[in-house]
Amino acid sequence: MIYLDYAATTPIDPQVYEDMKSYLLQQYGNPNGKYYTQAIETKNAVDNARERVAKFLKCQMDELIITSGASEANNFIIKGIVDASEQTNPHIVTTQIEHSSILATCKFLEKRGCKVTYLSVDDNGQIELDDLRNALTEETTLVSIGWGNNEIGTLVDIQAIGNLIKNVSSQIFFHTDATQAVGKVPINFSKVNVDALSFSAHKFYGPKGVGGAVIKRDKDGILPKITPLIHGGEQEMGLRGGTSAVANIVGMGKAAEIADKDLSVTIKHIEKLYRFLIEELQKSSISFKVNNFGSDRLFGIVSLTLYGVSNELIIKALASDVAVSAGSACSATKPSHVLSAIGLNKDEIRSTIRVSFGKYTEVNDIRNSVKAIEKVYEKFRVIKS
Ligand code: PMP
Repeated sequence: MIYLDYAATTPIDPQVYEDMKSYLLQQYGNPNGKYYTQAIETKNAVDNARERVAKFLKCQMDELIITSGASEANNFIIKGIVDASEQTNPHIVTTQIEHSSILATCKFLEKRGCKVTYLSVDDNGQIELDDLRNALTEETTLVSIGWGNNEIGTLVDIQAIGNLIKNVSSQIFFHTDATQAVGKVPINFSKVNVDALSFSAHKFYGPKGVGGAVIKRDKDGILPKITPLIHGGEQEMGLRGGTSAVANIVGMGKAAEIADKDLSVTIKHIEKLYRFLIEELQKSSISFKVNNFGSDRLFGIVSLTLYGVSNELIIKALASDVAVSAGSACSATKPSHVLSAIGLNKDEIRSTIRVSFGKYTEVNDIRNSVKAIEKVYEKFRVIKS
């Protein structure tokens, strides 16, 4: 079985699992327990993990609010900033191709009276900077634009976007969903012109159910006003109550340490696999197009329209040999809003699969997958006369 759905989730690195084990069985103290050894040990483990993540993302330890993952972090930041804002008619700017946890949060806030602008994108999933500039108004409270897209692998120039927003007004809060970018491109939170980012450990070989919101402190060390999503408890500076998921947090810390150390090797490996995949597809009998042929891309997420076949048939026929998906796992039952935003018609969307790979994928996996896809493609292709 060849796993090519790394954008949905990645396998846990065995070193991550090793580090987590004892916090599930032996070291079970509540890190907020304070005075006894069991609690002190787990508190130290959480602090140590926080330090590793902070080093990886180049943020301060007290800028990281640990959450259950990126969906929670996205909800927390967007709702929290808008709720705490003094703006009487808050306005949000986002794009049409964001993750469902951003779009659904914006829809929720729209029902509560917020105005939301959903920027359109070109066929590579990039926004027009002029459109962004024109969308900003005196009422704009928050802009949320994803760093890397989970369906078509678009990578945006986050610094250029941040600079544009801040040149218009330093009061506008700029958030980026960096879930697909973390572990795939270098991230320097202290340098990049964003106020907050979201991420999730299971996208970089850590466990599921843990991630974070990173929120910038100002030069006096003060966090922006933000309403907690989970009230109660002093954990995470009172911004996210609830007993810390110690084993998960330890795993996330280890995954961050490994991702940091391996980053340049991983980037080269993934780019090589991407080029190889395209070459193999070109040599095959498959009639296809890559959605997002831009060079600013995450090389490990490839959206392919396979002309003349249904993606469902292909994915099901491949199921026990190769794991690929039709798109985002988080909105798997609906036609992709991302593919439609980049201009694909219904037939093309129905013929599109997402192939995503990672550090454990080998050249042979790609070769064998293309062969397997070609076989089912030949079987199911409907030739239109
Ligand atoms: N944002 C993006 C871009 C994602 O790809 C995902 C995961 N599919 C999420 C947010 C949600 O992450 P989590 O699973 O941690 O809630």
